Amino acid sequence: MSKRIQFSKTGGAEVLEWVDVEPAAPAAGEVRIANKAVGLNFIDIYFRTGLYPAPSMPSGLGTEGAGVVDAVGEGVTHLQVGDRVAYAQGPLGAYAELHTLPASKVVKLPDFIDFDTAAASMLKGLTVQYLLRQTYELKGGETILFHAAAGGVGSIACQWAKALGVKLIGTVSSQEKADLAMANGAWATINYTEENVVERVRELTNGEMCDVVYDSVGKDTWEMSLDCLKPRSLMVSFGNASGPVDGVNIGILNQKGALFVTRPSLNGYADTRERLEMMCEEFFAMIESGKIHIDVANRYPLQDAGKAQDALQSRKTTGSTILLP
Ligand code: NDP
Repeated sequence: MSKRIQFSKTGGAEVLEWVDVEPAAPAAGEVRIANKAVGLNFIDIYFRTGLYPAPSMPSGLGTEGAGVVDAVGEGVTHLQVGDRVAYAQGPLGAYAELHTLPASKVVKLPDFIDFDTAAASMLKGLTVQYLLRQTYELKGGETILFHAAAGGVGSIACQWAKALGVKLIGTVSSQEKADLAMANGAWATINYTEENVVERVRELTNGEMCDVVYDSVGKDTWEMSLDCLKPRSLMVSFGNASGPVDGVNIGILNQKGALFVTRPSLNGYADTRERLEMMCEEFFAMIESGKIHIDVANRYPLQDAGKAQDALQSRKTTGSTILLP
């Protein structure tokens, strides 16, 4: 038997159960991984609360982890038992000692990335790769607004933007978070609990506003984010920390200056093996070069996943959180 976190109904952290399960043998094309560290992500909360429906109940939770290949299904050629690996996609169930998933979603870890770093950054780092390099290909010299700049995704975005020569203005809710974002390479920060974000962006940009806004907060910030953009520029809405953006009349894009909007996801960008490998190669190179350092700021025993989720959801965390089986 092995241990995992599962939930049988949606709700608060109290619905998470720490249970014994019979480990699934990998089917053809799958591998089983003995997790050494598991990544905590906001999307895990969306599934637990039911904002995103789990395919079946009871359901495992989590999609990010790092560990050692423990068993290999028929037809898998690029992985062997004992390989050091990481993953950020696939079926729910990473909050577990053993996780079985399609081998196509699993990549080998280079020696310079340890398990904790990988679990803390695969999903978030690949997300920043597509946000800054594909959704809009930043070349350097642009000004962008990035919400939750001291969070897991935000901490990587600050460093990557700096490396690209992009001026990142980060929103944060406290001075401590502002200091962290600046230390990570943000060009400026705005504490939205004290300052008017649109007015501050106007001052910082001498009235020009931003080339791209990256908004993972959703409902609370949607319209304000549009007001921070230059005419004909791009709004990237990629999360729902405050609730989903819905009921939008697309005429608002015209009223705010003939804007573009996109609602991307990691699965939408890493949708083929080739694309996943390309994104990993670029992200791992950023770590190897030292341009990006992963802040594994919070560690919890896996069985305390509920406490870790509560901390993330109540804005108490900075950087990345990992769960240790
Ligand atoms: P974070 O560590 O960034 O935590 C979320 C942060 O959002 C909080 O710390 C808080 O920062 C800010 N926030 C603002 N309003 C709220 C609110 N009402 N409730 C909670 N938090 C709020 O989390 P992650 O790094 O895991 O993820 C960041 C975001 O990116 C999430 O929305 C997530 O869904 C999204 N995401 C999207 C992906 C995609 O491909 N589409 C992939 C990965 C992540 P502060 O206190 O400074 O306001």
